[in-house]
Amino acid sequence: MRFLSPLVRLAVTSGILAGILAGCHTASDDHHHARPTKQAAPFTGEYPIQVVCTTGPITEAVRKIGGPHVSVTGLMGPGIDPHLFRAAPQDVENLQKADVIVYNGLHLEGRLAGILDAQSKNKPVIAVTDQLVAENDPRLRKPPEFEGFFDPHVWHDAILWSDCLNYLTEQMQKVDPSHAAEYQKNHDDYIAEITATDDYCRSQVATLPEEGRILVTAHDAFGYFSAAYGLETEPLKGVSTEDEIEIGRLDDVVRLLIEKNIPAVFVESAISPRIVRALIEPCEAQGHQVKIGGELYADALGQAGTDAETYPGMLRANVDTIVTALNPTPGG
Ligand SMILES: [Zn+2]
Repeated sequence: MRFLSPLVRLAVTSGILAGILAGCHTASDDHHHARPTKQAAPFTGEYPIQVVCTTGPITEAVRKIGGPHVSVTGLMGPGIDPHLFRAAPQDVENLQKADVIVYNGLHLEGRLAGILDAQSKNKPVIAVTDQLVAENDPRLRKPPEFEGFFDPHVWHDAILWSDCLNYLTEQMQKVDPSHAAEYQKNHDDYIAEITATDDYCRSQVATLPEEGRILVTAHDAFGYFSAAYGLETEPLKGVSTEDEIEIGRLDDVVRLLIEKNIPAVFVESAISPRIVRALIEPCEAQGHQVKIGGELYADALGQAGTDAETYPGMLRANVDTIVTALNPTPGG
């Protein structure tokens, strides 16, 4: 029931909901699977191509791949929660003026569904996760509490994200075939950097004792990360930050922290630390010291000037924070 209200809200603002719901259930529903992505038509306007992107990782990817041929505007800067993001008048204007729009999809940008759908009628609107959905990629998570929806936080698995960027590059090449070779080269260089980051994450998590690889966070943003790098994820809330915490969930997580002797829990850069802090006292009352292990970048990149201001930097910052906090102190 707790998911009903955001779903109803989405259903009102977006005709794509029914399609996505249908597409997630049975193969026979596939013909109802209307997605807002318009097939990219070759660009005939004036360069640079004006591209409006939603999240930080997408904004960075389009800049890297498009190079000098694109002018990129990102809607969601550091600390912005994409689940709750609403377009301000300036954002609406930018979306209307854009030649191309690129977004994550899988309902990450739930409150933009209406405007993305409307814009897709007259310009390419590309969801980077579209091919994963079309292929029903087995790596897509379907958290039971999300009732048939896929978990949208795919960028936390560097390899899965690389596949999204491969699709994005193909779409950009369709929009602008005259620079296809350049886009390909930029893509390949960027993917090499992301692959190195993937190796780094893997090797860092491998330094943790196996029984201590448990990640307690505010909302269910790290399922792909955990699956990719060998952790278990124990979020307090569901996939969207607007979910309520289920009754009994705090007690369950407190019990788990004590039972498994987990030394740290993590707050997130785009959501209030209050709900994670609520775990500390009940643990202490039962004789288990647990600390805030640091801030993870769940839904946004870091501020300019920090290590996490880039996508690979954000992944590294997260894995460093996790590994430092979960590694047992010497002699402890
Ligand atoms: Zn999230």
